[in-house]
Amino acid sequence: MADVHSKETRSYNMSRIKGKDTKPELLVRKFLHSKGFRFKLHDKKLAGKPDIVLPKYKTIINIHGCFWHGHEGCRYHVIPKTKTEWWLQKINGTKVRDKENLLKLTQDGWKVLTIFECELKANSRDLTYDKILKFIHSGNTSN
Ligand SMILES: [Zn+2]
Repeated sequence: MADVHSKETRSYNMSRIKGKDTKPELLVRKFLHSKGFRFKLHDKKLAGKPDIVLPKYKTIINIHGCFWHGHEGCRYHVIPKTKTEWWLQKINGTKVRDKENLLKLTQDGWKVLTIFECELKANSRDLTYDKILKFIHSGNTSN
């Protein structure tokens, strides 16, 4: 019984992880599009193939799933009770890679904004959109 459940949980999570056009990402893309921004998707030339790249603003926006990217303190980040070690290892691996990618990108002069899936739920979406706009227009990109 427990095994069946963990398999289901895993394939559910995997399907969300693997899909490039996850819904939260689509929301952000639609929003940026509506504001007239031009952007590239999953640029292979950049560390970690960032979700959304705005070359003109030297800005990158990554939309991370709360579960897979281990959003700390988030209610959507719940480690399954079965295969707990396995999950923790996977998630920690992702977090390490996220950090490495972030470092590489910022060293190359990119501004990187990480948005978590839960920030795009209906009740916090508008705030998040505001945050995105402010971020894009913030600071200088001269270094
Ligand atoms: Zn979250």
